[in-house]
Amino acid sequence: MPELPEVETIAAGVHARVHGQRIASVWTSGKPQTFKSPEAEIAAALTGARIESVRRVGKTIVMTVQRNKTSTELLIHLGMTGRLLVSAPEIPLAPHTHAVLTLADTREIRFVDPRRFGRLSLHAPQPATDNQQPATFSGPGSEPFTISVEDFIALFRRRRTPIKAALLNQSLLHGIGNIYADESLFRASIRPTRQAERLTRAELALLRTSLVKVLRHAIRLGGSSVSDYVDADGVRGFFQLRHRVYQRTGQPCLVCATPIRRIQLAGRSTHFCPHCQK
Ligand SMILES: [Zn+2]
Repeated sequence: MPELPEVETIAAGVHARVHGQRIASVWTSGKPQTFKSPEAEIAAALTGARIESVRRVGKTIVMTVQRNKTSTELLIHLGMTGRLLVSAPEIPLAPHTHAVLTLADTREIRFVDPRRFGRLSLHAPQPATDNQQPATFSGPGSEPFTISVEDFIALFRRRRTPIKAALLNQSLLHGIGNIYADESLFRASIRPTRQAERLTRAELALLRTSLVKVLRHAIRLGGSSVSDYVDADGVRGFFQLRHRVYQRTGQPCLVCATPIRRIQLAGRSTHFCPHCQK
């Protein structure tokens, strides 16, 4: 399942390839699970519009298009197996292609999703008023890269829940999945089972720094292989950061050599070093 760094890599890669292009036509597959907005509405909103930007919000890819000075956002959730590709028209359609946006220059943006947990939907256009910016999609929670230290600390105040579960709660911070929750808690030396409300300000500040660092590191790794996900057939797996605890159960901690432990927490497998993480 793609996590925040993969989604960021894909959004940036697609943006670099298609922004400024006009969408000439739209085809959709008619598979109802994939479309949270009616397919005819998606096609009508996109056809003839210009792609202004493709960006990431949480784990959602947001494509902003403009036509007749009205902005519309197409929200793309990759789900488990969704892929967003920029293809030359002569490349055959992959099985399980659910949407094709044909660009004025004949290239195609294709949404491919074998298991169909991915979703496409429109975020309704909000006309700008005199003193208000148009409302753009901002997701369910706060963005880990831009939240201030004080706001980050405030998110976890009075949370009587393990910090790992709070990190996965998308209405607090959005975009953090299992891998980066475990990896950031290890880097901050915080045990995943600690009650969120019991963490000190210094620990939470360190957790925020650790989270941003590990996500940025993963995004840098992704940048060098962006073409593998966005161009051509896009069937390769996602890049892997060298994990320090995630899926290293029983292997020696890279800091102290204590075997990494695995427990179930909030229904998710959770990995930590019992010596380094207090
Ligand atoms: Zn250790």
